[in-house]
Amino acid sequence: MKIICIGRNYLNHAKELGNSISNEPLFFLKPETAIQPKGHPFFIPDFSDNIHYEVELVVRINKSGKHIAEKFAHKYYSKIGLGIDFTARDIQEECKAKGLPWEKAKGFDGSAQLSRTFIDKSKLELDNIPFRLEKNGEQVQIGNSKDMLFNFDKIISYLSQFYTLKIGDLIYTGTPEGVGKVIAGETLKGFITDKEMFKVVVK
Ligand code: MG
Repeated sequence: MKIICIGRNYLNHAKELGNSISNEPLFFLKPETAIQPKGHPFFIPDFSDNIHYEVELVVRINKSGKHIAEKFAHKYYSKIGLGIDFTARDIQEECKAKGLPWEKAKGFDGSAQLSRTFIDKSKLELDNIPFRLEKNGEQVQIGNSKDMLFNFDKIISYLSQFYTLKIGDLIYTGTPEGVGKVIAGETLKGFITDKEMFKVVVK
């Protein structure tokens, strides 16, 4: 199983980090060990003083494929979940400044929070999925799939040029604006529409 994450897929988030946007999706991988075990708290790793939350819609692949045409991409997923792409922003900034890969900032253990519930896509309007993140009961990020620069089908088609997509692979589809630092003791809750998808305590 692999976890592929899309970066800079929401204009206002790219702007808040001072990043340019591109005419192709930007992506990186997290290892399988990044998945936070069910019900576990998120432990702030010792190597970072600035871990950020990034709430993201997550697509789970349900059919293997390569070189998938955009018009057929919808056949390769049936459910949408929600996750957090936890990011060591301080490490990422160092890597970016040196022109190095970001994996150290993105792929550490626990960096992929994931909802155990996934919603059948037939129950959602794919180009209008509202989602949000609450920190200690206060809304910190709000997004909608309509603001994605690359939609689910475009992402799948694009990625499948490089990687064979396999059943169970996860695609984190990028975060809207409002990312911020987590502090021990906080509780993060993610929602798609008004449905609570996950809850995680920061330690
Ligand atoms: Mg992200």
